[in-house]
Amino acid sequence: MARPDPIPAYEDNYIWLLRDGPATLVVDPGDAGPVIARLGATPPSAILITHHHWDHIDGLPELHARWPEVPIFAPDDPRIPIATRRVSDGDVVNIGPWRFEVIAVPGHTQTQIAYHGAELVFCGDSMFSLGCGRLFEGTPAQMLTSLDRLATLPGETLLCCTHEYTAANARFALAVEPGNAALTERASEVAQRRAGNAPTLPSTIASERACNPFLRVESAEILQSLTQHLGHEPNDRIEAFAALRSWKDGFR
Ligand code: ZN
Ligand code: FE
Repeated sequence: MARPDPIPAYEDNYIWLLRDGPATLVVDPGDAGPVIARLGATPPSAILITHHHWDHIDGLPELHARWPEVPIFAPDDPRIPIATRRVSDGDVVNIGPWRFEVIAVPGHTQTQIAYHGAELVFCGDSMFSLGCGRLFEGTPAQMLTSLDRLATLPGETLLCCTHEYTAANARFALAVEPGNAALTERASEVAQRRAGNAPTLPSTIASERACNPFLRVESAEILQSLTQHLGHEPNDRIEAFAALRSWKDGFR
């Protein structure tokens, strides 16, 4: 199995690179420089885009001009002006030895998609390790549905999200679920990796199910924390998730 490789870009972005023999895949090239530095003169087999934010697509003009023959897969959104194939929920993307299924994951943006295949998922800014994307365009119910879909992927699936937010996410996760032993262990692993300037990604779906508070709104301890924070018990999962998300928005 090919191990996905996170290429650091900007402050805390990762552009994912996947290689298997001559096949190479680039995901969310927000900047062309680091991609070209890594690939040199060899074009990738394809480029995948998860959503329209600049830090995920701004490398496209330069990469497309340099390698016009390389297919670019992206959601159908006019805010992503460069793409050669528009894909949506349920579509299958075949590249070299890989087969990816497209999963709609609205919430952070309306048209965000994830690519699941090769025992990993490229999920952009929908799920993060120990966190989830901010709700710029979608509703809490939409994001919860998106996270639920990602959470049902096989546990060993590698979570390839696009920001190194894990340490900050761990602080919030520990504040809302301090009694979670798996989380405590993951948080210390994350601290160790960041101290050595190493990426905390990819994570796995199994680890996120055990540690990520946004996948754990049914946890008794999280519900207790939310009840204290809100001043009343959340009425349902969606209210619990919405409260958790807005709590995190203001958490420092
Ligand atoms: Zn984004
Ligand atoms: Fe982003």
